[in-house]
Formats: sequence, structure tokens, C-alpha cells
Amino acid sequence: MARHTTFRFCLDPTVEQSVALARHVGAARFAYNQCLRLHLDARERHRTLMSGGAGVDAVDQARDEVPWSRFSLINAFNRWKLSEAAGRRFLVTSEGVAEVDVTGLAWRGEVSSQVSDEAAVDLSRGLAAWTASRSGKRTGRPIRHPRFKKKTHTAGSFRMRNRTTAGRATIRVGRDRPRSVTLPRIGSIRVREDTRRLRRMIATGRARILQATVTRGAQRWWISITVEAADLHPAVQHQPRRADDKTGWVGVDRGLRTLVVAGTRDGTETLRVQAPKTLAAGLRRQRRLARAVSRKKRGSTNRRKATMRLARHHIRVRDTRQHFLHQVSNQLVKSHDRLVLEDLNITGIMSNRRLARAVGDAAWGELARQITYKQHWHGGQVVVADRWFASSKTCSGCGQIKPDLTLSDRTYTCGTCGLVLDRDLNAAVNLAAWAEDHTSGEEARVGDRQAAGPVINACRRDGSGPHIRVGETSPDDAGTPVQTAPAA
Ligand SMILES: [Zn+2]
Repeated sequence: MARHTTFRFCLDPTVEQSVALARHVGAARFAYNQCLRLHLDARERHRTLMSGGAGVDAVDQARDEVPWSRFSLINAFNRWKLSEAAGRRFLVTSEGVAEVDVTGLAWRGEVSSQVSDEAAVDLSRGLAAWTASRSGKRTGRPIRHPRFKKKTHTAGSFRMRNRTTAGRATIRVGRDRPRSVTLPRIGSIRVREDTRRLRRMIATGRARILQATVTRGAQRWWISITVEAADLHPAVQHQPRRADDKTGWVGVDRGLRTLVVAGTRDGTETLRVQAPKTLAAGLRRQRRLARAVSRKKRGSTNRRKATMRLARHHIRVRDTRQHFLHQVSNQLVKSHDRLVLEDLNITGIMSNRRLARAVGDAAWGELARQITYKQHWHGGQVVVADRWFASSKTCSGCGQIKPDLTLSDRTYTCGTCGLVLDRDLNAAVNLAAWAEDHTSGEEARVGDRQAAGPVINACRRDGSGPHIRVGETSPDDAGTPVQTAPAA
């Protein structure tokens, strides 16, 4: 079992359960902030000793005491939560002597301690990403230092790992009734969608729950259950190609108006997908709702309501887009065993401030990510073309490069060989040809250096962190009927 996938359900908690969920979200935020506080204080102590000319041993000890790793952060938090700093009360004995009674964190028994452990894990990842980015070990955009989390009414999440105690899993699906998820400390919560597919996979040993993340949306609670699932049935996987076979590549070009155009080397268009109009309409509405928020007085009830409306809109747009991208990536990987994508860094170079364009770039990055991991599941291949390969400006007929091609030229017309072809299809054909010329069968395995770049790495084993939020597989992806309830 090597395939990680996520099932996402909308929760339907009782009033008491909503309170318990909100308490867990608060506990996760509190633990994260407290861990960060402990970490920063320890760093400050070390710095003070260093500049104060303390002995080498004392400075070394202070440095070693700064919690960086997940374990040291968990230990630091657990020590703190029992300490006087976390909670105390004064008792007056019968003799009239006041005594301090160290109680520790008063509400620590009300929430699962897993929540604070996972918050410490998140912080250690954030700190590690920040140090790696600062020292140049991590490429890509610079990572900021972790900051304190703010309290909100429309966001926040907590995570729990599935453990086995006395032979029973702590996170269970459909225990009391089919449409329910059971979480430690919170109990059995109703979900709005059918959980049958997941239950059957678990019952037959084809899936094992790793963890669950509960997220608060605008007036909705969601649960994302990450499972380790068995490989896809061989019947739906692609047949392996011979090592010396260099053919069969299909280029996937991102158009501006058209989201995806796929084409083979001989100029056949295999797929063309228009971006749905609802998304463009969503952007207009987003601008209007955002303006409405900024016009309301800060701290007012009207502002809170407007913020809620905007947050609900964001969720709806995101769900619509995710669902659409999953459909497109499924179409691509089911019917093509060899795909060529353009380099994502191209979009970084061209990025501009226009909202529609930025959303398009983000969608393309997400689509590339989905294509890569799904193609891996299907036993197919994905390569990314060289970032300097001019797939749009090159003539797919004669190889001539047209430097003055502008974005408004919808048709590629070659002055040398007379080729007239749709601009996006021309680029797709070029990508397909590039792969045939530049890859041998061996290099092209999914997971090679190019295909597994940081942005589109599909086969990450570590199934948590930001990966969950951006990388959700929709329920239909694993075969369940699509029932993502729209946010009301
Ligand atoms: Zn030409």
C-alpha cells in the first residue's frame, strides 16, 4: 500500500459537538502559539547569554534548550502545561497560611492532547522550512518565519492521528450509523455525504485511516480523512511500455482562454477543455463582496456578516475549481499514458497582478500536481519540458521560432512552411515532440528529477501539513459519487 488519498466530508455536528469542535480548534491555535512563545523565549535567552558574555557552557546549554524539533516542542509544551506559569490558584489553609497550588492548564483535560501534539508538529515544520529557506537549502519563494495565529470565526483547523488502542482504531467511519465519523473525545459526528466507498475500502483492507483534519469554514465544518490506499486495480492502470519505445507522448498546453489543450506529435488534438464560466463570474462576485467588506466599519456586526459572506464565497469558488480540475486531470490520465507538461516556472516569470491571471496560474499549478500523482497511480509517465523550451513560439511543422508572437495571436501562422494551426494546439504538439526527442524510456519514469520537482511532487509520503489543504483528492477521485455539498 503506497497510495495516499483524502476523503473530504461535510460534517453535521450537534450544537454540543460544534462547541467541542470549536474548543479543539481553539486548543490547536493556543498550543501552536504557546509553542512558538516557548521557542522564541528560549531563543531570546540564548541570545542574551551570548551577548552578555556568559560562559561557553552556559551559552551552549541555552542553545541546546531551544526547542526546534517536533519532539522537543511537544515536550516543552507538555512541561509548560503542568507548570505554575500555565495555571495556579491560592489556597488558604485552616491555619490562615496562603499556599500556591499549581494547577497547570485548567482546560487541558477537555481536549485531546493529540491536537496540541499536531500543532507542535506544524510549528516544527514551519521553523524547519524557514531555516532551510534562509540557508538556501530550500528553493522557491522565501519562507517567512512562523507567526502567531489569530482567532477567527471563519477559519482554523485541528488534526488527529489515527491510533489503535486495544485493537480498535481511534478514528472510525460509520460506526453508529453509515453517515458518521467517530473522533476521540468528540464522539460520533454525522456527515452529510455517503461514506460507503471509504467504509468498504476499510472493511476489505484496501484502505487504512492515517489521520483526520477538521476544518472550520464559514458556517460549515469539514473533515478530511487521509488514508493509505491499495494500488489501483491493474485493469485501470496503463500497460507498461518497452524501454526503447519513445513514442506516444501527448503534450498538454495551458491556454489563456482554454484551460487545457492536449495534442500528439502528428498534430492530433486529443482533448480540449474550456475553463468554466462560473469561475469568471465568481471572480466578479469576489471583487464585489470584498469591496462590501472594506466599506463596512471595522469591528461592526455588518462587517462580520460581510466577511462571512466573502468567506463562504471563497469556499464555494475553491470547491467548484477543485472539482473541475479533478475532472480534467482524471480525463487526462485515464486516456493518456505519457504526458508532457510545460515548466511551471514559466508562470512565475510571467506572473502579473491581474486577479484572473493569478487564479489561472494557481489552477495550472494545481492541475499539474494532480496530473502527476494520478498518473503515478495509473502507472503512466509525466515529464516536464525544459523551462527554456519555447513551446508557443516554435512552429510545430518546421521548427522555426517566431519571436514576435503575441498573446493575442490565437492562430499560429508560419511564414516559412506555411503552417496554420491553433496556437494552443501548436504548443501541445511541440511539447509532445520535445518529449520524444529528449527522453528515453528509462528517464521518463514518474519520479525522475524533472517530474518530481517541488511544486508538483505527487508522491510525498508524509501525508500532512499544507499538503492536505491544497492536495485534497475529491471523493469521486477514489470512486465515491460526487457529493461535495455546496456551502450555503
Ligand atoms: Zn513552419
